[in-house]
Amino acid sequence: MAIRAASTERVLEGQDNDKIRDNTRREEGSQQAIGGDSLKLAPQWRRSMKEMKRMDQILLIGSFIGFSWLVMQAVHELEHVLEAVTTGGTVTKVVLHPFTISRTDVHPNPHALIEVWAGPIVGVLLPLTAFFLAKALRSPGAFLFRFFAGFCLVANGVYIGTGWLAGEGADAVDFLRLGATHWQLVRLGLLTVPLGFFLWHGLGPHFGLGKANGFVSHSAALTSVCLFILVFVVELAIGSK
Ligand SMILES: [Zn+2]
Repeated sequence: MAIRAASTERVLEGQDNDKIRDNTRREEGSQQAIGGDSLKLAPQWRRSMKEMKRMDQILLIGSFIGFSWLVMQAVHELEHVLEAVTTGGTVTKVVLHPFTISRTDVHPNPHALIEVWAGPIVGVLLPLTAFFLAKALRSPGAFLFRFFAGFCLVANGVYIGTGWLAGEGADAVDFLRLGATHWQLVRLGLLTVPLGFFLWHGLGPHFGLGKANGFVSHSAALTSVCLFILVFVVELAIGSK
């Protein structure tokens, strides 16, 4: 099963890389054709093509990092809320807003250990499940799911591994109060952060880096910008600080 999964991944990644190469070649071909028809227009055309290409790349990278940051926190808090409610706790406040770090206050909290662990644990398992589903269904935007799953692993790992430095209010401080040790939290971070980097490995060309030479999928950039704006506006409208 593992061998089959690995070979499927290579095939999918191969297809994606072929697509990037094809698009780069097509673009170069069109530039040469135009250069042949009208030598005077060629540099200007080439410049505007390059600018459009860079604009898509900047939009994709900027908006998807912003989207991942906001949704990672939303998933994390959703798990705190669900576990608090299903274990008999009362949620007194959920802080979720584009301009602040999210937080869930629960009081009383009869099963605090389950509620506190739910945020970071399910907060990485859910995005990983979404990525594996997207990959299994051969979704064209599977690389975005992969990036998001990696982002959640890195962000939650750093938050748990070093969060006790932040002081009261951080999950890591609650973990210490509930019996965890500093070293256990650091170990958890040391496990999840490299896993996140592992998921990110090889994604560079999808974001226009390396051999992609700035080229990204225009539809991926557009989708990412729309998703970011949607989440940002919804949190701004109904979220609380
Ligand atoms: Zn939390």
